[in-house]
Amino acid sequence: MTDLTSLTLAEAREGLANKSFTSLELTDAHLGAIEAARVLNAFVLETPDQARAMARAIDAKIAKGEGGPLAGIPLGIKDLFATKDVRTTACSKILGNFVPPYESTVTSQLWRDGAVMLGKLNNDEFAMGSSNETSCFGPVVNPWRREGSNTTLVPGGSSGGSASAVAAQLCMGATATDTGGSIRQPAAFTATVGVKPTYGRCSRWGTVAFASSLDQAGPIARTVRDAAILMRSMAGHDPKDTTSVNCEVPDYEAAIGKSVKGMKIGIPKEYRLDGMPPEIEKLWSEGAAWLKASGAELVEVSLPHTKYALPAYYIVAPAEASSNLARYDGVRYGLRVPGRSIGEMYENTRAEGFGDEVRRRVMIGTYVLSAGYYDAYYLRAQKVRTLIKKDFEDCFAKGVSAILTPATPSAAFGIGEKGADPVEMYLNDIFTVTVNMAGLPGIAVPAGRDAQGLPLGLQLIGRPFDEETLFSLGEIVEQAAGRFTPPRWW
Ligand code: GLN
Repeated sequence: MTDLTSLTLAEAREGLANKSFTSLELTDAHLGAIEAARVLNAFVLETPDQARAMARAIDAKIAKGEGGPLAGIPLGIKDLFATKDVRTTACSKILGNFVPPYESTVTSQLWRDGAVMLGKLNNDEFAMGSSNETSCFGPVVNPWRREGSNTTLVPGGSSGGSASAVAAQLCMGATATDTGGSIRQPAAFTATVGVKPTYGRCSRWGTVAFASSLDQAGPIARTVRDAAILMRSMAGHDPKDTTSVNCEVPDYEAAIGKSVKGMKIGIPKEYRLDGMPPEIEKLWSEGAAWLKASGAELVEVSLPHTKYALPAYYIVAPAEASSNLARYDGVRYGLRVPGRSIGEMYENTRAEGFGDEVRRRVMIGTYVLSAGYYDAYYLRAQKVRTLIKKDFEDCFAKGVSAILTPATPSAAFGIGEKGADPVEMYLNDIFTVTVNMAGLPGIAVPAGRDAQGLPLGLQLIGRPFDEETLFSLGEIVEQAAGRFTPPRWW
């Protein structure tokens, strides 16, 4: 029998339906792979007993001809999603050993549809970061290495554990979240597919909040089809999240293979950065050529406020984070460090519980929201946000169906290579933050490799609630680029 972990989710779904193997066998194969790949540090909690129990229960259902669209599929869950009776930490010391008494909506929908939980995946602390180095559990290792080199590389962040685990075939797919690029950037760094849905498409209920007006859950998978399958289960209206939108969830998988003939694809000139590596330029033109060959029409578009997106994001996101993280006070959750007064207890707990990057964001956020600076920073950033959104609307009003850009300005970098200057790290998000600021859907698809053999990704940005077009176009890129998996060294 072929190694069950090398199957795509769609292939495993077929194998389970044909009774070629059971969910328990599939689950055991992945549990074995996780054990053998601990050096990657992708999982912060393995839940083998629960996984086997879920697999046995779903096998019984499959035998009776029941079981949902994800029946028996083993998945990894980013540690930002609350999982009932299973430790959830957001990879922060401040949550300590917090065990939620409730399940996030997104994960509960996955279990409703028959998926099996293998464990919780590493991420940047409170999803703040682009390299997975801010996690209190330590950095995640990218299964990809430069050709002929042993240097350990980051998988990107904040969903680094999700991307690394999916790329290394430790799970068939994973949940992730994206506030400024945390699904798409790690997907690009690991040759996986990452989808950031339209704001409001997936419920945020039970997901640890970072910046509530930007946060969206979405899947990381090995193929565009697999991502479409997962999206259908993750999406949907939830009355418990007031920003969740009540519109029907389409069959995303059905969008794959649909003709894109005559579709207008925008190429934004402002995304052509000075000093951008020629490999990224080449990848971008190749992607455009593939879409053209499929009958799409390429048009140059302008998104003039792009250059303000990153600074505006790094005001809006910390502002919301400083407010959201106020709840971690040593009283309600996890860690408590005593003090002589309640005020001192708060201070001690927060000083010890939050890592450097989180503290930096809380301080920036508090500053930009403070009375004397609110208008100069926060209000101005909100105005820029409106203009960014309008840039996209103008573009879509001209009949553009989707926009093609690089996903990241470079391939994966080394662990510890970009720690000194936080701004250097923030520059990773240059192509992704605009999408969150405008609330739009985006997909990152593996599209090629750099001279050192590392994967590079392309991003497609869609109209609100038109993830389907992204799946159609994404699969064209995937077909043209071919799929690539990291050689196994662990
Ligand atoms: N890298 C960005 C940040 O640090 C985005 C993170 C995210 O999308 N969660 O804020």
